[in-house]
Amino acid sequence: MATVNEQGNIVARCRYCEGAKTGFEVLDPGQTNWGGVVYKKYGDQHDFRLARCLNCGAGALAVFAYRRGDKRGLADFYPESKERLPLPEDVPKGIKREFIEGERCLEANCYRAAAAMFRSVLDKTLRANGYKNVGNLKRQIDAAADDGVITAARQKRAHEELRVLGNDVLHDEWSPMTADDVELAHRYAQRILEDFYDDRESILAVLRANARTPDEDRPGTVERDEDEGEPAQIVSSSSTFKAPPPSR
Ligand SMILES: [Zn+2]
Repeated sequence: MATVNEQGNIVARCRYCEGAKTGFEVLDPGQTNWGGVVYKKYGDQHDFRLARCLNCGAGALAVFAYRRGDKRGLADFYPESKERLPLPEDVPKGIKREFIEGERCLEANCYRAAAAMFRSVLDKTLRANGYKNVGNLKRQIDAAADDGVITAARQKRAHEELRVLGNDVLHDEWSPMTADDVELAHRYAQRILEDFYDDRESILAVLRANARTPDEDRPGTVERDEDEGEPAQIVSSSSTFKAPPPSR
């Protein structure tokens, strides 16, 4: 949740800094081409102001509330990231992107969509590790546990927090889902990726010993994380600068 510090800057997780907690300066309307917007209704006033991330330079919108002239504080801040969980470097690009898509759904309070994404992370991870031919997702999870790639405790969580939750979304009638339900799925999807990719060489040895064919053994199936281009060029009314690389 975004807060305002003693200097009047907003402290929030920046979406463009991959969820890192950073400061945002609140721009004076005179500093920007767009000015500010003041909205009044009865005794309430909302002051819409542009803000700028002090780390990467990305823009955001801060809404301050006033009641009968008294500043009541920050009413809204957008876009604000939630905590992003770090993933091992060896996680394939497609799986990493699916995981981040799930985190974006969580940030947008789209919990069912997030649950479906985290189930998809599990499904794609098992496929990339040679379990697709074992049968349905339930059997694939059990086979990975039988091989010793995941522990019995993780096997149980993979069923309960990821497979069943995701199946509810994909196959059952619509029903609301809570942030807590999906936060668990988020954390267990990350832990399963750590199980498979933290020490990739050891896991590859276990997979091969169990006659599995991971993507590494299928030429052309492993996507590398290539350079995604130059850092963003940020142009503001007061300065032009290169964004520093994001930090967590
Ligand atoms: Zn930023």
